[in-house]
Amino acid sequence: MNHSAVHHLPILLQSRNTPLLSFSLETLTDELQSQNIARYRAHQILEWVYQKRNTSWHEMLNLPIALREDLEIRYPLLFPEVITVSGSRDTTQKFLLRLADQEMIETVLIPASPALYGEDSDRRTLCVSSQVGCAYGCKFCASGLDGFKRNLSVEEIVSQVLLVEKISGERINNIVFMGMGEPFANFDHLTRAIEIINAPWGIHLAARKITVSTSGLVPRIRDFADLPQQVRLAISLHGATDEVRSQIMPINKRYPLAELMEACAYYVERKKQLLTFEYILIAGVNDQLTQARALADHALRLRAKVNLIPYNKVEGLPWDRPSESIQRSFLAQLRERGVAATIRREKGHDIDAACGQLRRRELVGNADASLQSV
Ligand code: SAH
Ligand code: SF4
Repeated sequence: MNHSAVHHLPILLQSRNTPLLSFSLETLTDELQSQNIARYRAHQILEWVYQKRNTSWHEMLNLPIALREDLEIRYPLLFPEVITVSGSRDTTQKFLLRLADQEMIETVLIPASPALYGEDSDRRTLCVSSQVGCAYGCKFCASGLDGFKRNLSVEEIVSQVLLVEKISGERINNIVFMGMGEPFANFDHLTRAIEIINAPWGIHLAARKITVSTSGLVPRIRDFADLPQQVRLAISLHGATDEVRSQIMPINKRYPLAELMEACAYYVERKKQLLTFEYILIAGVNDQLTQARALADHALRLRAKVNLIPYNKVEGLPWDRPSESIQRSFLAQLRERGVAATIRREKGHDIDAACGQLRRRELVGNADASLQSV
């Protein structure tokens, strides 16, 4: 028997550390109690992090220094590294972030957006990522092009919000899970992160200011509808008939429109929240008026709002957005039928396009650079 291996085991266990941002008030309280640290410390610590928005243990002044140093090792307060920030203050700003294992994600800050879910003018929306890459392989999307790498942890989701607030010096008052990845494929971490974002002891953002976007994982839509919080739901529809949707979204073969609409109806019934359909307009693929009419039927049945998004070109993919006049008649067709529809005109469109693209450019750019240096 290898005694040294046995001997080392407790040391390994002791060195186990859990990032502070992965805890809820309840789990941190239990954790500290199990270490014989007073329960009230959990509240104190999370107050420093979330109410006072401190990003380092050193700033937690009402904790004795020895305790602080000890806790810092056991529960590190870690943030991703910012690689690039593109865009300017009054347009969309994209943050390319590097995680501890060198993987990269994007987070996008959208200021007082014209048509994105909003009436209020001081809106600062953060578009957060939930996974590295995506396994769902929608034909038009940059996030899935290099396949799926891994789920983000709870703290990697939460830290996107705190980090961008720190850099921009502004509070985020709207969060959309429309960055890289399929949030419902990372359901456990997603819902734990939402709890932290929503809780009074946490980031304290009202549930109706949080929107999760999904490509249509039917069983998770039902689970989501059963959650206690009134979090909003957006469905990436992009095709109003199975024929068109299946061409561009493989998930439609697994959960066809009839099943998806049933799950949406369940959400609408359970929540007092409006549902949103996102519909990218891709030239010659889903921009026909017959699609607009079928889309109107779905939206009217569920009293859903429709967000039209002119397609952002992705390098290496053949798709384009339709002309302005086609976009306008598609919108008119919906409105004539009484659908609440808007067209999203992103301020930052020229510089950054859709989520997943900045990371891709970085990956492809690096590959080019290494080729040049050979
Ligand atoms: N996986 C989730 C959330 C992330 S994608 C989902 O699919 O809903 C966020 C939104 O951006 C989705 O509606 C997605 O379809 C859309 N999108 C992806 N690529 C795009 C592109 N090139 N132009 C415009 N929108 C795009
Ligand atoms: Fe994944 Fe959403 Fe992109 Fe589809 S649209 S590949 S589900 S991130």
